[in-house]
Amino acid sequence: MAKLVRGFKDIIGAQAEILTELESSARKIFKLYGARELRIPTVELKELFVKSTGDSTDIVQKEMYAFEDGGGRTLALRPEGTPGAVRAYIENNFTQAAPVQQFFYIGNMFRAERPQAGRYREFEQIGAELLGNAAPAADAAAILMLADIMKEFGVRNYGVKINSLGCNDCRPAYRRDLINYLSSGKETLCEKCKDRLERNPLRVLDCKIDGPRFAAAAPAQKLCPACAEHFEEVQKLLRGKIDFEIDNSLVRGLDYYTRTVFEFRVGDAAQNAIAGGGRYDGLVKSMGGPDIPAVGWAMGAERAAAARAAAEPKKDFIVYVASMDKTCNEIAFNIMQALRGAGIAAQGGLFDKNIKAQMKQADKCGAAYAVIIGGDEFANNPAALKNLQPGEQKRIMQAALVETLKKI
Ligand code: AMP
Repeated sequence: MAKLVRGFKDIIGAQAEILTELESSARKIFKLYGARELRIPTVELKELFVKSTGDSTDIVQKEMYAFEDGGGRTLALRPEGTPGAVRAYIENNFTQAAPVQQFFYIGNMFRAERPQAGRYREFEQIGAELLGNAAPAADAAAILMLADIMKEFGVRNYGVKINSLGCNDCRPAYRRDLINYLSSGKETLCEKCKDRLERNPLRVLDCKIDGPRFAAAAPAQKLCPACAEHFEEVQKLLRGKIDFEIDNSLVRGLDYYTRTVFEFRVGDAAQNAIAGGGRYDGLVKSMGGPDIPAVGWAMGAERAAAARAAAEPKKDFIVYVASMDKTCNEIAFNIMQALRGAGIAAQGGLFDKNIKAQMKQADKCGAAYAVIIGGDEFANNPAALKNLQPGEQKRIMQAALVETLKKI
Protein backbone atom coordinates (compact mmCIF):
# COMPACT_ATOMS: atom_id res chain seq x y z
CA MET A 1 0.00 0.00 0.00
CA ALA A 2 1.15 3.53 -0.73
CA LYS A 3 2.56 5.08 2.45
CA LEU A 4 3.25 8.53 3.83
CA VAL A 5 6.91 9.36 4.54
CA ARG A 6 7.62 9.44 8.29
CA GLY A 7 7.64 12.96 9.72
CA PHE A 8 5.37 14.30 6.95
CA LYS A 9 1.61 14.67 7.16
CA ASP A 10 -1.61 14.98 5.24
CA ILE A 11 -3.71 17.95 6.34
CA ILE A 12 -7.36 17.29 5.69
CA GLY A 13 -10.67 19.11 6.09
CA ALA A 14 -10.99 20.97 9.40
CA GLN A 15 -7.23 20.89 9.98
CA ALA A 16 -6.63 22.57 6.64
CA GLU A 17 -9.45 25.04 7.19
CA ILE A 18 -8.07 26.25 10.50
CA LEU A 19 -4.71 26.93 8.80
CA THR A 20 -6.48 28.89 6.07
CA GLU A 21 -8.28 30.86 8.76
CA LEU A 22 -4.97 31.62 10.48
CA GLU A 23 -3.51 32.78 7.17
CA SER A 24 -6.49 35.12 6.67
CA SER A 25 -6.10 36.54 10.18
CA ALA A 26 -2.40 37.09 9.54
CA ARG A 27 -3.02 38.77 6.17
CA LYS A 28 -5.52 41.14 7.75
CA ILE A 29 -3.05 42.22 10.44
CA PHE A 30 -0.13 42.44 7.99
CA LYS A 31 -2.18 44.89 5.97
CA LEU A 32 -2.80 47.07 9.04
CA TYR A 33 0.94 47.22 9.68
CA GLY A 34 1.81 47.84 6.04
CA ALA A 35 3.67 44.56 5.50
CA ARG A 36 3.71 43.30 1.91
CA GLU A 37 3.80 39.75 0.71
CA LEU A 38 6.97 38.05 -0.41
CA ARG A 39 6.75 34.76 -2.28
CA ILE A 40 10.15 33.19 -2.49
CA PRO A 41 11.36 29.80 -3.76
CA THR A 42 11.23 26.65 -1.66
CA VAL A 43 14.74 25.82 -2.84
CA GLU A 44 17.88 27.92 -2.42
CA LEU A 45 21.60 27.23 -2.66
CA LYS A 46 22.56 25.28 0.46
CA GLU A 47 25.32 27.79 1.05
CA LEU A 48 22.74 30.52 1.71
CA PHE A 49 21.53 28.76 4.85
CA VAL A 50 25.02 27.73 5.96
CA LYS A 51 26.11 31.37 5.86
CA SER A 52 22.98 32.96 7.35
CA THR A 53 21.16 30.49 9.59
CA GLY A 54 24.67 29.58 10.74
CA ASP A 55 26.88 26.52 10.51
CA SER A 56 26.86 25.99 14.27
CA THR A 57 23.09 25.52 14.37
CA ASP A 58 21.33 22.16 14.50
CA ILE A 59 19.29 23.23 11.49
CA VAL A 60 22.35 23.52 9.27
CA GLN A 61 24.44 20.80 10.86
CA LYS A 62 21.95 18.00 10.54
CA GLU A 63 18.44 19.03 9.70
CA MET A 64 18.72 20.31 6.15
CA TYR A 65 17.29 18.48 3.19
CA ALA A 66 20.21 19.16 0.85
CA PHE A 67 20.73 17.58 -2.55
CA GLU A 68 22.64 17.99 -5.78
CA ASP A 69 20.68 18.97 -8.85
CA GLY A 70 21.54 17.97 -12.41
CA GLY A 71 23.80 20.99 -12.79
CA GLY A 72 26.09 19.91 -9.95
CA ARG A 73 24.84 22.62 -7.58
CA THR A 74 24.14 21.81 -3.95
CA LEU A 75 20.66 23.01 -3.13
CA ALA A 76 18.52 22.78 0.00
CA LEU A 77 14.82 22.84 0.80
CA ARG A 78 14.39 25.97 2.93
CA PRO A 79 14.47 25.21 6.66
CA GLU A 80 13.35 28.77 7.47
CA GLY A 81 12.24 31.91 5.65
CA THR A 82 14.60 34.67 6.72
CA PRO A 83 17.67 33.81 4.59
CA GLY A 84 15.61 33.67 1.38
CA ALA A 85 13.74 36.85 2.31
CA VAL A 86 16.99 38.74 2.91
CA ARG A 87 18.50 37.33 -0.28
CA ALA A 88 15.46 38.54 -2.24
CA TYR A 89 15.65 41.94 -0.55
CA ILE A 90 19.30 42.36 -1.53
CA GLU A 91 19.03 40.82 -4.99
CA ASN A 92 15.99 42.90 -5.96
CA ASN A 93 17.91 46.03 -5.05
CA PHE A 94 15.66 47.24 -2.24
CA THR A 95 18.78 48.04 -0.23
CA GLN A 96 19.55 50.92 -2.60
CA ALA A 97 16.15 51.99 -3.87
CA ALA A 98 13.92 51.57 -0.82
CA PRO A 99 15.72 50.08 2.18
CA VAL A 100 12.80 50.48 4.61
CA GLN A 101 10.58 47.50 3.86
CA GLN A 102 8.17 45.29 5.75
CA PHE A 103 7.63 41.86 4.25
CA PHE A 104 5.60 38.85 5.23
CA TYR A 105 5.67 35.32 3.88
CA ILE A 106 3.55 32.22 4.27
CA GLY A 107 5.13 28.95 3.24
CA ASN A 108 6.28 25.46 4.08
CA MET A 109 9.66 24.82 5.66
CA PHE A 110 11.61 21.56 5.85
CA ARG A 111 13.77 20.24 8.66
CA ALA A 112 14.92 16.65 9.08
CA GLU A 113 14.23 16.72 12.82
CA ARG A 114 13.28 13.71 14.87
CA PRO A 115 9.50 13.64 14.41
CA GLN A 116 7.28 13.96 17.47
CA ALA A 117 4.04 15.68 18.43
CA GLY A 118 4.20 19.28 17.21
CA ARG A 119 7.47 18.70 15.38
CA TYR A 120 7.27 17.82 11.72
CA ARG A 121 9.69 17.55 8.85
CA GLU A 122 7.51 19.76 6.68
CA PHE A 123 5.60 22.51 8.45
CA GLU A 124 4.14 25.88 7.67
CA GLN A 125 5.59 29.13 8.85
CA ILE A 126 4.04 32.56 8.69
CA GLY A 127 6.77 35.14 9.08
CA ALA A 128 7.47 38.85 9.02
CA GLU A 129 10.68 40.76 8.32
CA LEU A 130 10.95 44.49 9.10
CA LEU A 131 14.01 45.76 7.28
CA GLY A 132 15.78 49.10 7.49
CA ASN A 133 14.57 50.28 10.89
CA ALA A 134 17.04 50.24 13.78
CA ALA A 135 14.65 51.92 16.22
CA PRO A 136 13.15 50.03 19.18
CA ALA A 137 9.78 50.91 17.61
CA ALA A 138 10.46 48.22 14.99
CA ASP A 139 11.14 45.54 17.63
CA ALA A 140 7.97 46.53 19.50
CA ALA A 141 5.88 46.66 16.32
CA ALA A 142 7.13 43.22 15.26
CA ILE A 143 6.10 41.73 18.61
CA LEU A 144 2.73 43.53 18.69
CA MET A 145 2.00 42.49 15.10
CA LEU A 146 2.41 38.89 16.19
CA ALA A 147 0.22 39.44 19.26
CA ASP A 148 -2.45 41.06 17.06
CA ILE A 149 -2.48 38.03 14.76
CA MET A 150 -2.93 35.74 17.77
CA LYS A 151 -5.80 37.91 18.97
CA GLU A 152 -7.48 38.09 15.58
CA PHE A 153 -7.15 34.34 15.14
CA GLY A 154 -8.28 33.60 18.70
CA VAL A 155 -5.21 32.24 20.54
CA ARG A 156 -5.21 33.79 23.99
CA ASN A 157 -3.52 31.29 26.27
CA TYR A 158 0.07 32.16 25.43
CA GLY A 159 2.97 33.83 27.22
CA VAL A 160 5.59 36.15 25.74
CA LYS A 161 9.25 36.04 26.76
CA ILE A 162 11.79 38.61 25.68
CA ASN A 163 15.52 39.07 26.15
CA SER A 164 18.40 41.04 24.71
CA LEU A 165 21.46 39.26 23.36
CA GLY A 166 23.47 42.46 23.01
CA CYS A 167 25.55 43.44 20.01
CA ASN A 168 29.04 42.82 18.63
CA ASP A 169 30.42 45.17 21.28
CA CYS A 170 28.95 43.55 24.37
CA ARG A 171 28.21 39.97 23.30
CA PRO A 172 31.83 38.69 23.14
CA ALA A 173 32.38 39.40 26.86
CA TYR A 174 29.14 37.62 27.69
CA ARG A 175 30.18 34.65 25.55
CA ARG A 176 33.47 34.44 27.44
CA ASP A 177 31.71 34.63 30.83
CA LEU A 178 29.34 31.93 29.72
CA ILE A 179 32.10 29.63 28.45
CA ASN A 180 33.94 30.02 31.79
CA TYR A 181 30.78 29.30 33.76
CA LEU A 182 29.76 26.28 31.68
CA SER A 183 33.31 24.88 31.54
CA SER A 184 33.20 24.22 35.29
CA GLY A 185 30.44 21.67 34.63
CA LYS A 186 31.73 20.54 31.24
CA GLU A 187 31.89 16.83 32.13
CA THR A 188 28.19 16.80 32.99
CA LEU A 189 27.04 18.46 29.74
CA CYS A 190 25.19 16.36 27.18
CA GLU A 191 27.18 15.33 24.10
CA LYS A 192 25.62 18.03 21.94
CA CYS A 193 26.41 20.76 24.47
CA LYS A 194 30.01 19.61 24.95
CA ASP A 195 30.31 20.25 21.24
CA ARG A 196 28.44 23.58 21.42
CA LEU A 197 30.37 24.92 24.38
CA GLU A 198 33.10 26.73 22.46
CA ARG A 199 31.28 27.32 19.18
CA ASN A 200 27.95 28.58 20.46
CA PRO A 201 27.72 28.65 24.27
CA LEU A 202 24.42 30.56 24.22
CA ARG A 203 22.80 27.49 22.71
CA VAL A 204 23.59 25.46 25.85
CA LEU A 205 21.05 27.60 27.71
CA ASP A 206 18.52 26.70 25.02
CA CYS A 207 19.19 22.94 25.31
CA LYS A 208 16.28 20.85 26.58
CA ILE A 209 18.63 18.80 28.79
CA ASP A 210 21.27 21.22 30.02
CA GLY A 211 19.34 24.50 29.74
CA PRO A 212 17.21 23.97 32.85
CA ARG A 213 20.27 22.85 34.87
CA PHE A 214 22.52 25.75 33.97
CA ALA A 215 20.24 28.67 33.08
CA ALA A 216 19.28 29.81 36.59
CA ALA A 217 22.84 30.48 37.80
CA ALA A 218 24.22 31.60 34.43
CA PRO A 219 26.03 34.94 34.37
CA ALA A 220 23.72 37.80 33.45
CA GLN A 221 24.12 39.43 30.09
CA LYS A 222 26.00 42.72 30.57
CA LEU A 223 24.59 44.98 27.91
CA CYS A 224 26.57 47.97 26.66
CA PRO A 225 24.81 51.31 27.31
CA ALA A 226 23.40 51.49 23.78
CA CYS A 227 21.95 47.96 23.94
CA ALA A 228 20.60 48.55 27.47
CA GLU A 229 18.85 51.71 26.31
CA HIS A 230 17.44 49.95 23.25
CA PHE A 231 16.08 47.09 25.36
CA GLU A 232 14.58 49.47 27.92
CA GLU A 233 12.83 51.40 25.15
CA VAL A 234 11.40 48.20 23.61
CA GLN A 235 9.94 47.27 26.99
CA LYS A 236 8.53 50.76 27.46
CA LEU A 237 6.74 50.55 24.12
CA LEU A 238 5.30 47.12 24.98
CA ARG A 239 4.17 47.91 28.52
CA GLY A 240 0.43 48.16 28.90
CA LYS A 241 -0.14 46.63 25.46
CA ILE A 242 0.81 43.01 26.09
CA ASP A 243 1.96 40.94 29.05
CA PHE A 244 5.56 39.84 28.73
CA GLU A 245 8.32 38.44 30.87
CA ILE A 246 12.07 39.00 30.65
CA ASP A 247 13.93 35.72 30.44
CA ASN A 248 17.72 35.96 30.37
CA SER A 249 18.02 32.34 29.31
CA LEU A 250 16.08 32.97 26.10
CA VAL A 251 18.72 32.74 23.36
CA ARG A 252 16.88 31.27 20.32
CA GLY A 253 18.40 28.62 18.12
CA LEU A 254 19.74 30.68 15.24
CA ASP A 255 23.12 32.36 14.92
CA TYR A 256 22.18 35.72 13.48
CA TYR A 257 20.25 37.35 16.32
CA THR A 258 21.41 40.58 17.95
CA ARG A 259 19.74 42.62 20.70
CA THR A 260 16.04 41.80 21.14
CA VAL A 261 14.87 38.19 20.92
CA PHE A 262 11.40 36.94 21.80
CA GLU A 263 9.27 33.85 21.91
CA PHE A 264 5.52 33.17 22.23
CA ARG A 265 4.77 29.93 24.10
CA VAL A 266 1.69 27.96 25.06
CA GLY A 267 1.84 25.85 28.24
CA ASP A 268 4.84 23.84 29.39
CA ALA A 269 4.90 21.03 26.83
CA ALA A 270 8.17 20.27 25.03
CA GLN A 271 7.19 21.71 21.62
CA ASN A 272 5.42 24.71 23.09
CA ALA A 273 6.95 27.58 21.13
CA ILE A 274 4.37 28.84 18.69
CA ALA A 275 6.49 31.70 17.37
CA GLY A 276 9.85 33.28 17.82
CA GLY A 277 12.07 35.95 16.42
CA GLY A 278 14.38 38.81 17.07
CA ARG A 279 16.61 41.50 15.69
CA TYR A 280 19.27 40.53 13.18
CA ASP A 281 21.18 43.71 12.47
CA GLY A 282 24.25 42.05 10.97
CA LEU A 283 22.58 39.65 8.57
CA VAL A 284 22.01 41.84 5.51
CA LYS A 285 25.67 42.91 5.55
CA SER A 286 26.98 39.41 6.13
CA MET A 287 25.02 38.30 3.07
CA GLY A 288 26.71 40.85 0.83
CA GLY A 289 24.38 43.83 1.25
CA PRO A 290 24.98 47.16 2.97
CA ASP A 291 24.82 47.56 6.74
CA ILE A 292 21.03 47.49 7.19
CA PRO A 293 19.28 46.63 10.46
CA ALA A 294 16.32 44.26 10.63
CA VAL A 295 13.96 42.47 12.96
CA GLY A 296 11.64 39.56 12.22
CA TRP A 297 9.81 36.52 13.45
CA ALA A 298 8.31 33.24 12.32
CA MET A 299 5.23 31.49 13.64
CA GLY A 300 4.68 27.73 13.43
CA ALA A 301 1.23 27.64 11.81
CA GLU A 302 0.35 24.09 12.89
CA ARG A 303 1.24 24.91 16.48
CA ALA A 304 -0.77 28.12 16.51
CA ALA A 305 -3.72 26.24 14.99
CA ALA A 306 -3.44 23.50 17.62
CA ALA A 307 -3.39 26.12 20.39
CA ARG A 308 -6.61 27.68 19.06
CA ALA A 309 -8.34 24.35 18.43
CA ALA A 310 -7.56 23.23 21.99
CA ALA A 311 -8.93 26.48 23.41
CA GLU A 312 -12.18 26.67 21.47
CA PRO A 313 -13.18 23.88 19.12
CA LYS A 314 -15.39 25.40 16.46
CA LYS A 315 -18.32 23.77 14.70
CA ASP A 316 -19.47 24.78 11.26
CA PHE A 317 -23.17 25.35 10.61
CA ILE A 318 -24.13 22.78 7.97
CA VAL A 319 -27.61 21.94 6.70
CA TYR A 320 -28.14 18.46 5.29
CA VAL A 321 -30.70 17.96 2.52
CA ALA A 322 -32.38 14.58 2.16
CA SER A 323 -35.05 13.29 -0.17
CA MET A 324 -37.66 10.68 0.80
CA ASP A 325 -38.35 9.34 -2.69
CA LYS A 326 -37.45 9.68 -6.31
CA THR A 327 -40.22 12.14 -7.17
CA CYS A 328 -38.80 14.69 -4.69
CA ASN A 329 -35.16 14.49 -5.78
CA GLU A 330 -35.22 17.46 -8.09
CA ILE A 331 -36.94 19.73 -5.55
CA ALA A 332 -34.54 18.59 -2.83
CA PHE A 333 -31.59 19.28 -5.11
CA ASN A 334 -32.94 22.74 -5.95
CA ILE A 335 -33.40 23.54 -2.26
CA MET A 336 -29.83 22.46 -1.58
CA GLN A 337 -28.58 24.84 -4.28
CA ALA A 338 -30.87 27.63 -3.03
CA LEU A 339 -29.37 27.29 0.46
CA ARG A 340 -25.85 27.49 -0.95
CA GLY A 341 -26.93 30.47 -3.03
CA ALA A 342 -28.12 32.18 0.15
CA GLY A 343 -24.74 31.66 1.83
CA ILE A 344 -25.73 28.67 3.95
CA ALA A 345 -23.39 25.65 3.81
CA ALA A 346 -25.47 22.73 2.55
CA GLN A 347 -24.62 19.09 2.00
CA GLY A 348 -26.64 16.13 0.80
CA GLY A 349 -27.73 14.78 -2.55
CA LEU A 350 -27.19 11.16 -1.64
CA PHE A 351 -30.57 10.47 -3.23
CA ASP A 352 -29.89 6.92 -4.42
CA LYS A 353 -29.77 5.84 -0.74
CA ASN A 354 -32.80 5.36 1.52
CA ILE A 355 -33.74 8.03 4.08
CA LYS A 356 -32.10 6.16 6.95
CA ALA A 357 -28.74 6.06 5.16
CA GLN A 358 -29.08 9.75 4.24
CA MET A 359 -29.73 10.72 7.87
CA LYS A 360 -26.72 8.67 8.92
CA GLN A 361 -24.62 10.69 6.52
CA ALA A 362 -26.12 13.92 7.94
CA ASP A 363 -24.81 12.82 11.31
CA LYS A 364 -21.40 11.91 9.93
CA CYS A 365 -20.83 15.28 8.32
CA GLY A 366 -21.73 17.04 11.56
CA ALA A 367 -24.80 18.85 10.20
CA ALA A 368 -26.75 21.01 12.64
CA TYR A 369 -30.04 20.72 10.75
CA ALA A 370 -31.58 18.40 8.18
CA VAL A 371 -34.13 19.37 5.58
CA ILE A 372 -36.21 16.38 4.56
CA ILE A 373 -38.31 16.62 1.43
CA GLY A 374 -41.11 14.16 0.71
CA GLY A 375 -43.44 11.95 2.68
CA ASP A 376 -47.17 12.24 3.30
CA GLU A 377 -47.68 15.96 3.09
CA PHE A 378 -45.32 16.48 0.19
CA ALA A 379 -48.14 17.32 -2.17
CA ASN A 380 -49.03 20.31 0.04
CA ASN A 381 -45.44 21.56 -0.28
CA PRO A 382 -44.01 21.39 3.24
CA ALA A 383 -40.54 20.21 4.17
CA ALA A 384 -39.44 18.69 7.45
CA LEU A 385 -36.81 20.77 9.24
CA LYS A 386 -35.03 18.67 11.80
CA ASN A 387 -32.70 20.03 14.46
CA LEU A 388 -30.15 17.25 14.67
CA GLN A 389 -28.84 18.07 18.12
CA PRO A 390 -31.90 17.82 20.39
CA GLY A 391 -33.68 16.07 17.51
CA GLU A 392 -36.96 18.00 17.36
CA GLN A 393 -38.66 18.28 13.98
CA LYS A 394 -41.10 20.73 12.50
CA ARG A 395 -42.83 21.15 9.19
CA ILE A 396 -42.56 24.36 7.26
CA MET A 397 -43.33 25.40 3.74
CA GLN A 398 -40.46 24.94 1.30
CA ALA A 399 -40.62 28.58 0.28
CA ALA A 400 -39.91 29.63 3.87
CA LEU A 401 -36.92 27.29 4.33
CA VAL A 402 -34.08 29.55 3.28
CA GLU A 403 -35.32 32.49 5.33
CA THR A 404 -35.91 30.32 8.41
CA LEU A 405 -32.43 28.80 8.25
CA LYS A 406 -30.85 32.20 7.63
CA LYS A 407 -32.40 33.41 10.87
CA ILE A 408 -31.05 30.39 12.75
P1 AMP B 1 12.39 28.85 14.32
O1 AMP B 1 12.51 29.18 12.85
O2 AMP B 1 13.17 27.63 14.71
O3 AMP B 1 12.62 30.03 15.18
O4 AMP B 1 10.88 28.42 14.54
C1 AMP B 1 9.81 29.34 14.56
C2 AMP B 1 8.56 28.59 14.88
O5 AMP B 1 8.31 27.59 13.90
C3 AMP B 1 8.63 27.80 16.18
O6 AMP B 1 8.26 28.61 17.26
C4 AMP B 1 7.63 26.70 15.95
O7 AMP B 1 6.33 27.13 16.25
C5 AMP B 1 7.73 26.44 14.47
N1 AMP B 1 8.55 25.25 14.18
C6 AMP B 1 9.89 25.15 14.15
N2 AMP B 1 10.29 23.90 13.83
C7 AMP B 1 9.16 23.18 13.66
C8 AMP B 1 8.89 21.81 13.32
N3 AMP B 1 9.86 20.94 13.06
N4 AMP B 1 7.59 21.42 13.25
C9 AMP B 1 6.58 22.30 13.49
N5 AMP B 1 6.78 23.59 13.81
C10 AMP B 1 8.05 24.02 13.90
